[in-house]
Amino acid sequence: MVDLVSQYQEIKPEVDKAITGILETAQFINGPVVKEFQADLESYLGVKHVIPCANGTDALQIALMALGLKPGDEVITPSFTFIATTEVVALLGLKPVFVDVDEETFCIDAGKIENAITPNTKAIVPVHLYGQAANMDEIMAIAKKHNVAVIEDNAQAIGSDYHTENGDVKTGSIGHVGCTSFFPSKNLGCYGDGGAIFTNDDELAAQMRKIVNHGQSKRYYHETVGCNSRLDSIQAAVLKIKLAKLDQYIDARRKVADYYDNFLSQFEGVIAPVRGEKSRHVFHQYTMRLIGIDRNALNAYLADNGVPSMIYYPVPAHKQEMFAEFGSYATDLPVTDLLTTQVLSLPIHTEMEQEQLDFICGHIADFINAQA
Ligand SMILES: *Cc1c(COP(=O)(O)O)cnc(C)c1O
Repeated sequence: MVDLVSQYQEIKPEVDKAITGILETAQFINGPVVKEFQADLESYLGVKHVIPCANGTDALQIALMALGLKPGDEVITPSFTFIATTEVVALLGLKPVFVDVDEETFCIDAGKIENAITPNTKAIVPVHLYGQAANMDEIMAIAKKHNVAVIEDNAQAIGSDYHTENGDVKTGSIGHVGCTSFFPSKNLGCYGDGGAIFTNDDELAAQMRKIVNHGQSKRYYHETVGCNSRLDSIQAAVLKIKLAKLDQYIDARRKVADYYDNFLSQFEGVIAPVRGEKSRHVFHQYTMRLIGIDRNALNAYLADNGVPSMIYYPVPAHKQEMFAEFGSYATDLPVTDLLTTQVLSLPIHTEMEQEQLDFICGHIADFINAQA
């Protein structure tokens, strides 16, 4: 699905030099490069505060912790997402309330959020799934009206531009807090685990800086219960180099997506990813919908022929056993249920060659034509 080896070869001299520099000074934790990367990311995203942390799941957890919610408070999220988004809600003793997604963008259906709001609703966590933004205009308007916080799960959409009346802003900088993951396969990935939290709110930033560091702002004086969540220097060094190339990486992904779009347009039962008007799709995944084509059989056929393809996500959160006790289990989410039977993601990355695209597309055509 991704080719991180070829990508590394392209930046090897820079990366090796940076990592060697850290080994030679042994500043593994909180080295100067962590602050440098933080500043670079703040300016790239146009946010006041970036707080690096250990992974994207921690980022979401810490953002929710900073809101100071109490057990039983409700958090609205989509069910059609990676489990981390919803898992941290339950982990903190909060109640996940699942809202269906939009059939075209795969993101939370803003038109269905207000119905799910109760006096206990304290936050909305939209997910910019596969690299495209949820309808943040509407979500922010609803949040303002009901006085709830918005935490953007930007793990799949870092670098995406969201179009507003006053020009483009970056996804993750629109809500009260934005979260991302630097898992190696993400659009901005490191060589291990990493994550970050973004905000323009000084108070939330101060609180989250404390939480990532055992609840202390002065060493050994712990004001609040926190955790230990750091981005190490080696990861920050890799990310600093890769952030400078992020826009170029996004362009490469968009070119692959253009090719797939064009190729797949010949098949009636294939719906290529719909590019919404609100944001620039950064194609963390290239996810098509198959209608009247046996998705699981295509997935298996491709695997047999050496072409990876993935179902993100086969079981939505509301059907996961872990939520059975939260009263959020098997909620009626028809679009989510439909999409989980239709979606299939194809390989997409920054180093894809025409030969690979031809190989993948050839096998897709063989399968569909043999069925017809
Ligand atoms: C990857 C991902 C996360 C979690 O990131 P980790 O760094 O793996 O903890 C959270 N939400 C979404 C939507 C993701 O894709």
